[in-house]
Amino acid sequence: MKKANLVIIGSGPAGYTAAIYAARANLEPILFEGFFSGPAGGQLMTTTEVENYPGFPEGITGPQLMENCRNQALRFGTQILTEDVVDVEFSQHPFIVRGRENEFQAASVIIATGATANRLNIPGGNDGEFWQKGVTACAVCDGAMPIFRNRPLFVIGGGDSAVEEATFLTKFGSMVYLVHRRDKLRASKIMQQRALEHPKLKVIWNSEIISIEGDKVVQSVQIRNNLTQQITTHEAGGVFFAVGHTPNTAFLKGQLELDDKAYIKVQPGTCRTSKDLVFACGDVQDHVYRQAITAAGSGCMAAIEAERELSARGITA
Ligand SMILES: Cc1cc2nc3c(=O)[nH]c(=O)nc-3n(C[C@H](O)[C@H](O)[C@H](O)COP(=O)(O)OP(=O)(O)OC[C@H]3O[C@@H](n4cnc5c(N)ncnc54)[C@H](O)[C@@H]3O)c2cc1C
Repeated sequence: MKKANLVIIGSGPAGYTAAIYAARANLEPILFEGFFSGPAGGQLMTTTEVENYPGFPEGITGPQLMENCRNQALRFGTQILTEDVVDVEFSQHPFIVRGRENEFQAASVIIATGATANRLNIPGGNDGEFWQKGVTACAVCDGAMPIFRNRPLFVIGGGDSAVEEATFLTKFGSMVYLVHRRDKLRASKIMQQRALEHPKLKVIWNSEIISIEGDKVVQSVQIRNNLTQQITTHEAGGVFFAVGHTPNTAFLKGQLELDDKAYIKVQPGTCRTSKDLVFACGDVQDHVYRQAITAAGSGCMAAIEAERELSARGITA
């Protein structure tokens, strides 16, 4: 079996940044960028403009940013494998990391597999329809875009992040509607109160968006009231899914401690997981910030921690 100082699993901003730092520290990292698990490059491959990543005053497209990161990782000697990791064994050291084709004995592992923003299958809201043409899953990322300004915006969800996103969007939309299929929000009392009292935020109870329509971008939504079955059409400038995220941790199969939502648990202020020499960075361990820059920052932390830990144990040069 092939040996590696460091195997990085995942290819978003966190994984590529970890690779850049690890490669420059002569760790000769192997990076599994995924294949069936999602587009190599991660969540930013599904978006258009990224306007909040420092260093690009005019903005940059998500795919271009990720191609730059990938090329930077390659430039310093990262070996990138276009396949998914299907299995890991952390109960022995060196660890075993199994891809669909390649298998490694790894002295250390960085997990950067991200979290997938959940989406609902609403006609008009899918790829090739109005996804990224007014339909998105990240208010903080996209809310300030011109297409959403002074337009009625619709947020789907009922938990804390839905309320948080809806409240955030009141800065940009003419009015924000939180569409919730029940008659009660799951969000904490304080968040609910803030939302319900906000003059630019209205909750549409017991209702679901059943279709999203437009021309080049979203222009309207149809909403069904689940109690009366009445369907109404509303002008809309944007639709934001806020129905949670699914961290990509299924392949770990109990090898690391996860929290109750299946995010990897790390020691506060570090990327250290419940297993020595296994680190986690980016959205797979972060349900608070979920931004490219924080993912990249924690990728840097994970690589530095791995390098120091390996050196301290005399495992690498
Ligand atoms: C629509 C949208 C727009 C966004 N816009 C912005 C923005 O403008 N600015 C901003 O800062 N943030 C934005 N974000 C958030 C940002 O994309 C994420 O915070 C960031 O991508 C997280 O990076 P990550 O490296 O942790 O994981 P991800 O980007 O999720 O990448 C994880 C990678 O790991 C791969 N992977 C998963 N499982 C495996 C496996 N078993 N084996 C191998 N590989 C695997 C996946 O395929 C994926 O390529 C946006 C998110 C979305 C959904």
